[in-house]
Amino acid sequence: MIRLTNIQLPLGHDESAIRSAVLAFLSINDHELISYHIHRRGYDARKKTNIILIYTLDVETTKNESLLEKFADHQLVKPTPDMSYKFVAQAPKQLEERPIVIGFGPCGLLAGLVLAQMGYKPIILDRGKEVRERTKDTFGFWRKKILNTESNVQFGEGGAGTFSDGKLYSQVKDPNHYSRKVLHEFVEAGAPEEILFVSKPHIGTFRLVSMVEKMRARIIELGGEIRFSARVDDIQIEDGKISGVALANGEVIKSSHVALAIGHSARDTFEMLHAKDVYIEAKPFSVGFRIEHQQSLIDEARFGPNAGNEILGAADYKLVHHCKGGRSVYSFCMCPGGTVVAATSEENRVVTNGMSQYSRAERNANSAIVVGIDPTDYPGGPLAGIEFQRQLESNAYRLGGENYDAPAQKVGDFLKGVSSEALGTVEPSFKPGIKLTDLSHALPDFCIDAIREAIPAFNRKIKGFALDDALLTGVETRTSAPICIKRGPDFQSISTKGLFPAGEGAGYAGGIMSAAIDGIKVAEAMALSINAQR
Ligand code: FAD
Repeated sequence: MIRLTNIQLPLGHDESAIRSAVLAFLSINDHELISYHIHRRGYDARKKTNIILIYTLDVETTKNESLLEKFADHQLVKPTPDMSYKFVAQAPKQLEERPIVIGFGPCGLLAGLVLAQMGYKPIILDRGKEVRERTKDTFGFWRKKILNTESNVQFGEGGAGTFSDGKLYSQVKDPNHYSRKVLHEFVEAGAPEEILFVSKPHIGTFRLVSMVEKMRARIIELGGEIRFSARVDDIQIEDGKISGVALANGEVIKSSHVALAIGHSARDTFEMLHAKDVYIEAKPFSVGFRIEHQQSLIDEARFGPNAGNEILGAADYKLVHHCKGGRSVYSFCMCPGGTVVAATSEENRVVTNGMSQYSRAERNANSAIVVGIDPTDYPGGPLAGIEFQRQLESNAYRLGGENYDAPAQKVGDFLKGVSSEALGTVEPSFKPGIKLTDLSHALPDFCIDAIREAIPAFNRKIKGFALDDALLTGVETRTSAPICIKRGPDFQSISTKGLFPAGEGAGYAGGIMSAAIDGIKVAEAMALSINAQR
């Protein structure tokens, strides 16, 4: 097949336009084009009145070879690459021990699935509950303010991204096309097929829940085992090598290959690992607030007269501002047509995040607006970032009225430095509720100054962004792990052989897709290591 990139067509083109564009581009006749397939569809909305769809197409013609020769020097015409996934190993017939995967978020899910597909029959352990039970607990917290510290937005089957917008794009380099493997597995489990070709795929919460269940069933069918309410409280190390894990109920499971895919909120587990001398470093992360606008404002600002177009969907945005003092402020985890959610996993703390359904049809757009910080901002040991997060989250709990409501402020008041007294046109979506206050007490002064500088700058890019009535809710602290559990080129901890730090919690991913890709890489490294040991 031949891959054609950057085929541009106007928004609203009719179906035959793609075929015509291929014929014109390659200068071939209609009968010479056997078929075409959309590999990717993106858009360029820089000119709101003239939005362009941009396609990457795989085409089959009667003269592929001669066309590839003819276009040999053309950057936009290449043979379609083989992006199919190839397993790197196969489990031995006599499997002497089963690898363990701790955590069943996107990283552990893909690590577990790929290990199972290669025949290694992994044992997967997650501290939280299976996804339906977890959904009840999570929604229970949002409605009734009853927090289950082991079953919530952060912990349980599917991991942190289960109650999310399910955005699947990532900026990680992916020369081996692992992201295609992830997308194909998701589609197999019930995700919409369009995630295979749209440039910014997303799934939304409800679909994620049923997909996770199907992927669990597949792993079990392949001989894997998944245990819920199975928190790993200790690891056993002999001569610098891992030999097993101990669960909260005292049970010990032996293995010399353990993937650590525990996400960024497993603070107690980080503490345990640190106490066990597993090498950990502090790393930069970001803190800030969630901002909410009416989705119609964002649609209008981004798409003008094309707002509401079905192909474009609810508009998103991505913003960065480099402040005079050297800090960067950026939008993060933007959720079009979604809701702001309570995302704490610890008692008496308030944390914000965002989610949406596949339809992205809720009234408000929300996004984190966060300031980049690094270990010099919270000096101490490798775990000092966790303490910093905790202080901000406890402070937000106090500002919110000590009942899990989140502190909030209108943007106009925040910029003026006065406490908000009444809501304006933007209604808060945060559950359980918000308390209007002065958010300048919620973050260190340098963060407040940076956000105050950034919002007017963002308003120059998205008209209305600094609207007086837009709403800030805080605090957004779980943007990524404040630590890195260092691993070597063999994917094993540099201090503890056989321990494979993986995904977001270990500092090797930032989002569903990159965590899932890291899970595949770690599964491969574990399989190769198990085989090499024989
Ligand atoms: P996690 O998903 O955090 O999974 C870790 C798992 O380990 C959890 O299930 C936990 O229960 C388990 N665990 C922890 N400690 C232990 C232990 N000691 N023993 C046993 N099990 C343990 N990213 C996107 O790309 N797109 C989005 O739209 C998006 N939206 C988000 C919305 C919300 C509300 C949240 C909270 C996050 C969102 N993210 C999003 C981020 C994304 O969810 C994470 O980047 C991703 O889930 C990280 O995957 P992971 O597998 O590394 O860790």
